Amino acid sequence: MKMYMQTRAIEIHDTHTMWNPQKMERIVEFMVRHHMNTLIFHENDLIDKLVYPSMLYTDAKTDGNIYGIYQKIYEQIYEKTPSPFVFCDEKPIFVELMRNIVRNAASRGIRVFFQNKELWHADLIYQSSAAHDGIVCPTDPFWWETYLPAKYRELFETFPEISGVITSTGTRESRSSLAHGRCKCRRCREMDLHTWQKHIIMAIYEPVKAYGKQLVVRDFTYYADEQEGLRAGILELPEDIIISIKNTPQDFYPTFPDNQLIGHVDGHEQWIEYEAMGEYYGFGVLPCPLIEDIRRRIRYALEHGADGFTARVDWEAMPNHSAFDTINALNVYASAMLSQNVELPAEEIYYAWLSEYELFQPGLSEEEKYQCIRRMMEYTEPAWEIMRRACYINDYLFSSNSKIPADIRHGMFLAKEHHGLQKWFPERQHDFDMTKENIDKFRLEKEESVKMAHTLYGLILRGNPGLKADYYERLVRQYEMYIPYCEMFRCVANVFLAAVGKEALQDQEGAFHALQELIVCENQLKHYKLPVFSYPGSVLLCYEKVHYFRLDAERVLHELYPEQ
Ligand SMILES: [Zn+2]
Repeated sequence: MKMYMQTRAIEIHDTHTMWNPQKMERIVEFMVRHHMNTLIFHENDLIDKLVYPSMLYTDAKTDGNIYGIYQKIYEQIYEKTPSPFVFCDEKPIFVELMRNIVRNAASRGIRVFFQNKELWHADLIYQSSAAHDGIVCPTDPFWWETYLPAKYRELFETFPEISGVITSTGTRESRSSLAHGRCKCRRCREMDLHTWQKHIIMAIYEPVKAYGKQLVVRDFTYYADEQEGLRAGILELPEDIIISIKNTPQDFYPTFPDNQLIGHVDGHEQWIEYEAMGEYYGFGVLPCPLIEDIRRRIRYALEHGADGFTARVDWEAMPNHSAFDTINALNVYASAMLSQNVELPAEEIYYAWLSEYELFQPGLSEEEKYQCIRRMMEYTEPAWEIMRRACYINDYLFSSNSKIPADIRHGMFLAKEHHGLQKWFPERQHDFDMTKENIDKFRLEKEESVKMAHTLYGLILRGNPGLKADYYERLVRQYEMYIPYCEMFRCVANVFLAAVGKEALQDQEGAFHALQELIVCENQLKHYKLPVFSYPGSVLLCYEKVHYFRLDAERVLHELYPEQ
């Protein structure tokens, strides 16, 4: 088995980071230090921010240069574009900003990819032949015959430094897609998603090849049968298209087993995507390094023929927060270092991070540094075992991106419908059944999370003289936050289980006792002052969110037990 990944990538998903030259410079420096060779800017409409394309404004031929295009279309911009047309009129400014960022990375030997979703388009498309009555027709051949080739040709003319594009098609997150089912025309009714995706991908593939670039297609599916379709589609694509696959199916849930698509894409090169910031495990505000999970996932990927590993370091929905800002930076270090040598001891990953962030007390001997690391690992390494018991129920998701559900119904929606483990792993379909036996197990899991949070807090309080005092204090405050976080999830889950498990439990007293505990928790949270990370900590420990969950829970329990 190969011990390393050829492509070692960082994915930036936060607009406020990728468009910020200072932030990007620090990330590029990190990549150079750690021999990462690929930088991915992931913004659904990134290419649309940088490319007109000119065909939406004029029939006149252009050479694709942004200034040449502007010369031909400036009058039409005012005429055709609804306010605020400044974003179209001054598009070259966006281009110059992004050119600076891209050129800086490229000049350091890093390949840059733009990652988007198709179909995406400007509002102006509603005035084109591909739209009628305000509805875009995704199967109009206009897309693959005219629009997409023009869009990507202009992109590569403007950004010769980029190495290629990564795209996903047909997802619900696209601006227009056959998957939305909005256009009811005959062509849309008759075309299957798989044929449609092939048209879109091949329309991008052609300009990509003409400019000597690389096309990467992403796996982004909500259901196992969609993934089957995607796989069938992949096998028909030219073999030099790379397939980028999330490490777990659907989205980045650390409790889920490996994505079954890995290793099943025939001769295509595979890149594996990993979420390092903590979208589904506490944002790094609650420390949760996943070094051993990353090692296991990389090993699995290597065993299944993967060539690339991508660490996503931030999230589009949460501006100005990054794995690099928290202890979960360890996940980025692990992605970089284990992608080069999957057997590297975890201590070396801690060592690199603590040294580069200058978190060791000055003057430590090497031996003292490793003592400090081992002491730290006593409370950092088990943190995931708390997290999985807090915001998951028996590996099923019980959170909305690390936050409590909005109400009782939402809890069920998150666990079973939207992120259902059973959709992908049918062998686990009864593991969320509301039987008495299961519910007892689920409750125990929540009790354990609270107990373990206290235990880890006790461990960190024993001190760590190797760490700089101010950083140590900050970390202590972060571990302290685990206690109310786990308690909140315990109370919310117990009320949820009392409601959805009513048939099995028939325990009115227990249900209202759980509600009382939730009210106590709500009051405590109301007066809780976040010791660090007031943002995005307030997203996680949110009194108002608990309040509205409790109001719904009260209503539901009174419906279930009207005599109360
Ligand atoms: Zn149609």
